[in-house]
Amino acid sequence: MSSSTTPRPGRLGVGVVGAGRVGAVLANALRAAGHAVVGATAVTEASRDRVDALLPGVPVLTVEEVVERAELVLLTVPDDVLPDLVRGLADLGRWQPGQLVVHTSGRHGTAVLAPARAAGAIPLAIHPAMTFTGTSLDLNRLSGCPFAVTAAAPVLPIAQALVVEVGGEPVVLGEDQRPAYHAALAHGANHLVTLVAQAGRALTATGVEEPGRYLEPLLTAALDGALRGGEQDLTGPVVRGDVGTVGAHLAALASLGPDLEDVLAGYRHLARATTRRALAAGRIGGAAAARLLDVLVEPAGAAPGAGETAGGPGAATAAGAAAPADSAAPAASATAVVEPVLARTRRELAAALAALPGRTALVMTMGALHDGHLSLVRAARERADHVVVSVYVNPLQFGPGEDLDAYPRDLDGDLALLTGAGVDVVFAPDDAEAYPAEPLVRIDPGPVADVLEGRTRPGHFAGVLQIVAKVLALVRPDVAVFGEKDAQQLALVRTLVRDLDLGVEILGVPIRREPDGLAMSSRNAYLSTRERTRALALSRALAAGRDAAGGGVVAALAAATDVLEAADGVETDYLALVDPDTFLPLPEGATGPGLLAVAARVGTTRLIDNTRVDLGGQ
Ligand code: AMP
Repeated sequence: MSSSTTPRPGRLGVGVVGAGRVGAVLANALRAAGHAVVGATAVTEASRDRVDALLPGVPVLTVEEVVERAELVLLTVPDDVLPDLVRGLADLGRWQPGQLVVHTSGRHGTAVLAPARAAGAIPLAIHPAMTFTGTSLDLNRLSGCPFAVTAAAPVLPIAQALVVEVGGEPVVLGEDQRPAYHAALAHGANHLVTLVAQAGRALTATGVEEPGRYLEPLLTAALDGALRGGEQDLTGPVVRGDVGTVGAHLAALASLGPDLEDVLAGYRHLARATTRRALAAGRIGGAAAARLLDVLVEPAGAAPGAGETAGGPGAATAAGAAAPADSAAPAASATAVVEPVLARTRRELAAALAALPGRTALVMTMGALHDGHLSLVRAARERADHVVVSVYVNPLQFGPGEDLDAYPRDLDGDLALLTGAGVDVVFAPDDAEAYPAEPLVRIDPGPVADVLEGRTRPGHFAGVLQIVAKVLALVRPDVAVFGEKDAQQLALVRTLVRDLDLGVEILGVPIRREPDGLAMSSRNAYLSTRERTRALALSRALAAGRDAAGGGVVAALAAATDVLEAADGVETDYLALVDPDTFLPLPEGATGPGLLAVAARVGTTRLIDNTRVDLGGQ
């Protein structure tokens, strides 16, 4: 006799609302785990066929009947249908107290199930990061498949257990993380299909038969490389800075005719994104990036926002580079990509600022920009109407024998990277403009500046605060954004603003890391390939310390130390578990939050990194 008619004790009666691909497959897996499937809705013929194939013997019922009979209601309906369905059933009084209501929408958390919760039901949201065919082929795909799980803390284990029962791997996700999580998956999985199809259509239009035969080995290798090595494995004309080839590609795709217009647009868009990523990762220089971006510019009128131009007189071009003569790109008289105004002097800065009404956010940098800096820019854009980025390598914060002269400088590259990033003004003074006279009044940063970074780099934070105070005074922003990568600097800037009543909001932004964990830094450009691998010891040590932090200060430090000591070619400067505010070392029995910070030399490059830890016990 089938398990659908004789449930064993302790097992649930499962009802499926929407026997689509996901619903039928999950219900099949729940049934295999011993639960009884008491009914399914199946409106289309395809759904009825799926019920026959994957859920034999399960009655096809109305939605209300399914909800009435089930202890666990599986809502596997399209995302857009879900809110009305849940509310409608609530209006009809169909939800039951204690009933488990599980939906599988990636986009929604449990808020969409609020009407069911109000009736006493237990809302759970699970979402398999997998694409389904709706056939028995999918049953294997569930094994080890990551599922995003969202639920209130007391009932989270129920959702996790359900996922484990169907063979999946639960990954807890917050309610507000779900839309972006879902967008990321859709972008990767769905748009990959479009991309492969575009490549296939272009090959077909060129006269290549069976394009799949050509694409399969290449695309499989590329996907494999991207998943393992991230963007490091990227090859092709963009990372070679080969503008001529990119221009020729655009011309060739344009010649394939209007049916392939979307392929040309897709190529242009992704090549632009690839250029910015290659620039941010230091794979190409600023001048090459600027030339590529010029060739790849959207033709006027082709994109939303086309026709916008740079911000008025004095606006810099991305790198002052014109499109090369061999460029086959369509002529573009207006760019869709807004370029920041470049201000080299205080006067130019004042003029540019005067043209910006509303709130202003400031991001201070030393240039050689990377994605970590761009995350600050993104945060700044969310907080204000206008964004000013300063680019200045401040001599006052470098000690004797440090890398002031060697520090990477690439203003063209920085401007190219900031073009289109929503930055209004780039303030890039030279030394004479920044310090017209030797500053006589100096800032004493106090005791926090004497530990960790300050102990190794005496005078460093005094120099940092001097320039921070100066640029804050010149820009007068409403908010200034700093990275948690330099946690001690961030703490000192907060103190500066508090103690001197500077009246600016200070916003901290989490550390951006490479896919393998290395914290992004302009100084990573100094690392050889071998050193870069060795440098991973820093983030690995912090992760080990964080994982062990529940066992207390000593356990966390020991776990991190073990990793650093086992690492070749890594000379630790300090490893410390400190109070996140005072930066003083935490005593052995400390509980609550801490900051695990490390500085180490890999070859001649000094790197820093940190992570928040939870010492438990609160
Ligand atoms: P720098 O150019 O190194 O002086 O950094 C300028 C700002 O960017 C500082 O507030 C840094 O903390 C921040 N920053 C640098 N690297 C990162 C990163 N990997 N993630 C987040 N912020 C960063």
